[in-house]
Amino acid sequence: MRRTLFESLVQSPLTEPPPQADEGALAELAASVERAARRRLGRSLSIREVDAGSCNGCELEIHALNNAFYDLERFGLRFVASPRHADVLMVTGPVTKNMREALQRTYDATPDPKWVVAVGDCAVDGGIFSGSYAVVGGVQAVVPVDLHIRGCPPSPIQLLKGLLALLEHTA
Ligand code: SF4
Repeated sequence: MRRTLFESLVQSPLTEPPPQADEGALAELAASVERAARRRLGRSLSIREVDAGSCNGCELEIHALNNAFYDLERFGLRFVASPRHADVLMVTGPVTKNMREALQRTYDATPDPKWVVAVGDCAVDGGIFSGSYAVVGGVQAVVPVDLHIRGCPPSPIQLLKGLLALLEHTA
């Protein structure tokens, strides 16, 4: 015990250093998303996150958008608790058989106009879980997808870039 305590005092932390803040680029990108949302919807963007069976790696990056580092709410973008209040469904993971109906019902409950963003490699075609007896496939196998954001997992900045592309390029 004493040895463990001593080692913890003299060893450097095992965690990775935090990413360097590029505050200017982040602010510019988030403000662009906010402007595009106001142009398209007349208000800010509401996002409902749906975990259809992911390993939670993608969730960690999505949650990071709300942490003190990215703090997305300061730009008016927010995550909502109900699909009835959402413009965008951000769906992660391969769709498991257990989550298929829940995803379909969440999609049906989201009012038009709505967009579906499939987040992460697994959401494209099942990724590393493809072929599993428990998996239906990618998000497209259950609901129509407007945008795929690839990565395992994609970073918060990639997520923001994807949202901007969605608002600027979808009809
Ligand atoms: S894309 Fe990677 S991080 Fe995201 S759910 Fe699949 S394995 Fe996990």
